[in-house]
Amino acid sequence: MEDCIFCKIANKEIPSSFVYEDEHTVAFNDLNPQAPTHILVIPKEHYASLNELDNEQVMSALFTAVKNVTKQLNIKEYRTVINTGESAGQTVFHMHIHILAGRPLKWPPG
Ligand code: 5GP
Ligand code: ZN
Repeated sequence: MEDCIFCKIANKEIPSSFVYEDEHTVAFNDLNPQAPTHILVIPKEHYASLNELDNEQVMSALFTAVKNVTKQLNIKEYRTVINTGESAGQTVFHMHIHILAGRPLKWPPG
């Protein structure tokens, strides 16, 4: 999708270093990390949010990617977050899963 920053990252129009890539997903470090490890896993295809994500193959690939990234980086304790919609804190409207690790994380989130 035009003017979508995460599409540009996924298409390699913006040079970024991926920590993981497979057929359907890529993962890269968050620009503004909220924990020592803060990785974003995104589908290569554009879905504005989890509400629009209707492809079960891609859903499955996203979960597999989270597991592969954490395994690859030997992260055993972590939080995954999907913000859906503005009031939930979504700021980039290309669906993504946050992986946060490396410090104790409080619950509930603010
Ligand atoms: P959201 O608030 O939508 O759940 O998360 C968006 C995340 O994307 C934020 O944590 C923000 O720091 C990150 N982000 C926004 N723009 C960029 C970018 O251009 N590159 C990277 N690597 N992360 C970005
Ligand atoms: Zn996009």
